[in-house]
Amino acid sequence: MSQLDAHVVILGAGHAGGTAAALLRQYGHTGKITLIGEEPIPPYQRPPLSKAWLKGEADADSLALKPLEFYAEQDIDFRPGCTAVKLARSDRAVTLSTGETIGYDILIIATGMRPIRLPIEGADLGGVHTLRTAADAEAIKADLAPGKRLAIVGGGYIGLEVAASARALGAEAVVLEREPRILARSACEALSNFFRDYHLARGVQFELGCAVARFVGENGHVTGVELADGRIVPCDAILVGVGATPNDEIARDAGLECARGIVVDLEARTADPSVFAIGDVTHRPMPHYDRMFNPESVPSALEQAKQAACAIVGRPAPAPEVPWNWSDQYDLKLQIAGLPFDADRILLRGDPAGAKFAVFHLKGDQVQAVEAVNAPPEFMMGKMLIANRKPVDPAKLADPSISMKEVTA
Ligand code: FAD
Repeated sequence: MSQLDAHVVILGAGHAGGTAAALLRQYGHTGKITLIGEEPIPPYQRPPLSKAWLKGEADADSLALKPLEFYAEQDIDFRPGCTAVKLARSDRAVTLSTGETIGYDILIIATGMRPIRLPIEGADLGGVHTLRTAADAEAIKADLAPGKRLAIVGGGYIGLEVAASARALGAEAVVLEREPRILARSACEALSNFFRDYHLARGVQFELGCAVARFVGENGHVTGVELADGRIVPCDAILVGVGATPNDEIARDAGLECARGIVVDLEARTADPSVFAIGDVTHRPMPHYDRMFNPESVPSALEQAKQAACAIVGRPAPAPEVPWNWSDQYDLKLQIAGLPFDADRILLRGDPAGAKFAVFHLKGDQVQAVEAVNAPPEFMMGKMLIANRKPVDPAKLADPSISMKEVTA
């Protein structure tokens, strides 16, 4: 049997798994493809869940990567509402929650991540949410209305996007952050301060440097968050947005190497030649930075879906991409290229007061990362500079009167 005839089983029908199935067919894979999905609906985009979709500006159909008919038309055996519970690599077989065992020639693990839940009193009260799935977003939306107050534990991008969406729906939002600033894990101080001030001006409240002790409630529904100093922050609902953890247990139990996720190479291969892993569940190489990391983003999931599909059908491996990501809050479009690893200096281009600027992270005279707010040329050219490892003149880069084209010439 050639690789093109192989039965490919994909665990996880999310952005990565759904894309891999479609790419395999696009690249001429003729063998059986089975796509196992825990959720009841076909693969969909998660980014709108905290943004347009939560605000009611996008319908459920627009979330889907492909319409349901696509899978039957492409002879992809899509099994929704079904979980893979065990992987037996020696038998090349996966056991499903239905009790069925499916054999594979090639397995792609694309099980993504799940939100971290706080192990505190009151975590099971009604109105306490996390956000990963369309069902989660539906439940949060039902709790957002004028006069309602949402407490958001964790000032990361998802929390801030939900705060902006809550305000758009007329609800109140208060962000509770353990660190002294929001976005502490992911953004530089200048950007953190800019987003804090932008949200404050739109009515979002912040409690920074606070520790959440427990959630309090009445009749099984949350009514507030108790902080470690004893204060109660009243609320009608809570979003816990404190990060996510890879769904890699099935791989760990099967003896595949895992770190923060399943360890893969630049073809999305594990050490087992029959097993690939893609998307948020992986611990993947970042060739531009000579290290392993997962940016937990759609572009990374798409890149790895392509790497796996190419390897399976025998196409050359695609060139490594610069990681990138985005966030939409109010009228702000933040675009991020690269990762600020090893940067020794931060350079501001433009004026945050005008809500149009970029923060460049430099290592010597090379750009490692750029965070661009309403500044697409800075994002695009910054991404190109990272890809080419081209040195820049920091004085020119910091001067917005010099075009990015000239800076990169
Ligand atoms: P997922 O899309 O999570 O898919 C994994 C699927 O596998 C899930 O359906 C899960 O239920 C299923 N599964 C898990 N275990 C099993 C099992 N044992 N058997 C069968 N199925 C299983 N990224 C950006 O780049 N930009 C953004 O603006 C952005 N915004 C986001 C906003 C929100 C609210 C969220 C939640 C994420 C956002 N992301 C964003 C991240 C992005 O959505 C993820 O990086 C991307 O979805 C990763 O794709 P994936 O296929 O690896 O994982």
